[in-house]
Amino acid sequence: MFIFLIGILAPSLIVGFLSWSAFSKRREAFRQVIESQLWISGETAAESIESALQEYEGKILSPENFTELSPLSQDSRESGPPSVQGRERAFLLDAEFRIISPPAGVDDIPLARWGEGVYDTPFMALFQRAEYLEFTRKRFQQAADLYERCALSTPIAQLQAFALEGRGRCLVALAEYEGAFQVYQALLNDYARFGNQVGHPYGLLAAVRLYNIARHLQLQQSLLRPLIDALERLRNGEWPLSSATFGFYAEELESILESELADGGDPDLQRSYRAIKQNPSPYLQELQFRQVLEENVIPVLKERIAFSRYSNEPQKGRLPVTFDDTYMLVSYSRLADVQADRIYYAGFIWNLDYIRNRKLPEITDALARTTGIQVRVIDEGDRGETRDRSRVIPKDALSLTFRQFPFPWRFIITQTALEDLKSAALRDNIFHGVLLAITLGLMGLGALFVARDISREAEITRQKSEFVHNISHELKTPLTLIRLFGETLRDKTTLSDETRSEAYGIITRESERLSHMINNVLDFSRIEMGRKEFNLRTGDLAEAIRETLESYRYHLEKKGFVVHEEIEAGLPPMEFDREAMASVLINLLSNAMKFSPENKDVFVRLARREDSVVLQVEDRGIGISRSELDKIFERFYRTESDAASDSGGSGLGLTIIKHIAEGHGGKVEVRSEPGRGSEFSVILPVTSSEEGKK
Ligand code: ADP
Repeated sequence: MFIFLIGILAPSLIVGFLSWSAFSKRREAFRQVIESQLWISGETAAESIESALQEYEGKILSPENFTELSPLSQDSRESGPPSVQGRERAFLLDAEFRIISPPAGVDDIPLARWGEGVYDTPFMALFQRAEYLEFTRKRFQQAADLYERCALSTPIAQLQAFALEGRGRCLVALAEYEGAFQVYQALLNDYARFGNQVGHPYGLLAAVRLYNIARHLQLQQSLLRPLIDALERLRNGEWPLSSATFGFYAEELESILESELADGGDPDLQRSYRAIKQNPSPYLQELQFRQVLEENVIPVLKERIAFSRYSNEPQKGRLPVTFDDTYMLVSYSRLADVQADRIYYAGFIWNLDYIRNRKLPEITDALARTTGIQVRVIDEGDRGETRDRSRVIPKDALSLTFRQFPFPWRFIITQTALEDLKSAALRDNIFHGVLLAITLGLMGLGALFVARDISREAEITRQKSEFVHNISHELKTPLTLIRLFGETLRDKTTLSDETRSEAYGIITRESERLSHMINNVLDFSRIEMGRKEFNLRTGDLAEAIRETLESYRYHLEKKGFVVHEEIEAGLPPMEFDREAMASVLINLLSNAMKFSPENKDVFVRLARREDSVVLQVEDRGIGISRSELDKIFERFYRTESDAASDSGGSGLGLTIIKHIAEGHGGKVEVRSEPGRGSEFSVILPVTSSEEGKK
């Protein structure tokens, strides 16, 4: 049997192993295909993205964008800082790398210098005298009066502003704050756009002075609004100041406002101050732009272009710049104005936010639509460690850097088509795995069944040979007796009548026993071959039982048994096989006899129980253990004690009884307790037709 099991299991295991290894090879092949595919699509994606960016760059650097910025066009200085397409900060340099655009406004306040022909005027004489009195003689009252006359003596606003400033200064020195307040108020309101002799615009200067004067008059709160306005105008670039002057006033105004607004103050003012601070200052950005150009871009550009003049390289390129910890990318190109026979250098600083958040998604979306290649752009240091599942970088995604554009980003490339392929492969693998598992399972199950059948077959074979041994023994005993007494009767003529009749009796009894046994064997073989048929006739079961019992009573009583007969009167007529029922009773009685060595009471009952009639045989013999109760009805089965005692049973009796009971549509039940006896009940149904006849 083991050999058989191995014969089935070994091939199964081999098949399992083979398919498993085929499996993993297939998976590996898939992985390789997918990977190489991914490389190819990655290259394609990188190429098309970068060419889209190149196109974008080329558009911005096209000469048309710069013609209006060049000095050739009129009013270029009023056109403000150029911003091509409103997104990128563009610049234009001339052949000597001077900045043409954005226009320089720094330290260049209109009319901040003395105008032509001022020196010989009466104003100038008065103004110089006033300054002398103020600075040298410290006679502030006289100087203040003189400044006033001075202001009235000229129609030129800028000069009036100079004189008014002098008067204000002197009044402050005299602690005449109310008068000074009025003077600076006039400067703030009417001369804001003019600058003083060192280029500080009165719009800023007067606002700060007014605040300081107002402190003396204890009404500074009312003067915060002009300060906020001044700050806003400063940040918006109302005065084209140098970054030093810009920084000075921005700091001055902010420190006043911060300290005044720190603890409460007017919520309205606070709100407007915060609103101003939140937006980046356009003028500051412009200043920084110029600073980046002057400090970081132009020196490198000069070097590069000087170098490329000698090689034949195209005079364009890209330049990474880090300014104030901010990464920037500059693209530049050489433009030639053929008409004017001049050379310019045009360029722009990439708006990285715009590229990252708008332009690249646009490009990658288009790419995904046309090719199915999924490209995501992530920051250089990003490891994709995030809770957001849509942003997790898949393990087998391809990560590429930009080749031509030194952006601080990477591409992450996945292929939806490949994802599909992968899930198809996975499905395939699962399907094969399940199939394999089912096959193995079935094989194992088959092996199990076969093994069980084999062991059962072996057991039956063993039982059969035991049966043959038993039955020959059983047959031999009566035959020996019959032969012995037959010979005695033949040879001994002098026997007494009594002995003679005893011998006849024994011969008759033993032949009956023999025929009973042979009947059992025949019945059994008919049952086994499925040919046992019942000759069912309607009749009186009680009478049939009584008759059988009568014929067997002698036998029982001779062995010392007392038969208690309890047959109910008035049982309905039933359909049954007379011979078979007799065989049932005789088998039960012979078992009762065989297994009751001491107490020799036997009960035979026939009674109605609901829709059935029950034939019961009870003894007070050795009983049957619980574990064997199920098995005694199996063919050839004999309990262990019985088999050991070698009482010579065939193990067929109960099998035949069960078969007969079932043949009548009934069943057999047994109740037994070791040492106390057994009770077998054959339960036969009373069919309704019989009920009707009754
Ligand atoms: P056999 O013809 O050998 O008696 P049976 O099929 O009639 O075979 O009985 C099977 C086994 O059931 C017997 O070996 C016996 O051990 C047990 N058995 C049957 N009837 C009784 C009984 N009345 N008391 C005790 N054991 C019994």
